[in-house]
Amino acid sequence: MDLATYWTVRDTTAADCLELGPVLTREEAEAEARRHRFPFLVFHRDYRDDTHILVHAEHIIYRLYDVPLLVLQQRIFCRICGVECDEATPRSRENWRDFHEFENMGHQTVELRWTAQGWIPVRRSDSVQ
Ligand SMILES: [Zn+2]
Repeated sequence: MDLATYWTVRDTTAADCLELGPVLTREEAEAEARRHRFPFLVFHRDYRDDTHILVHAEHIIYRLYDVPLLVLQQRIFCRICGVECDEATPRSRENWRDFHEFENMGHQTVELRWTAQGWIPVRRSDSVQ
């Protein structure tokens, strides 16, 4: 039986994740999670047989209560004219995108999400035909 352990840190949605590796103690992993401002720490333990087939896995999630939950920060901007939208809800952002692309033929919007790596594109819409 082969045993592999490793840690990951995650945001509220688990969409943003950082793998820390197998060599950290729990205290070191918690320190890394706090340093990167991730509120969740996950301990993984994989059990593999002699042929390296995964036969069992354990995942233990720790909530670091001194790290605030991340609020998803998303925005949309137009690649053509540069106008930005900071609407709060996904539906209102989608409405803004639809109206902007409808009213400005040929404009293309990009939805961005704030992560530990900075703003990353979430969805790129095609321009209204
Ligand atoms: Zn535009």
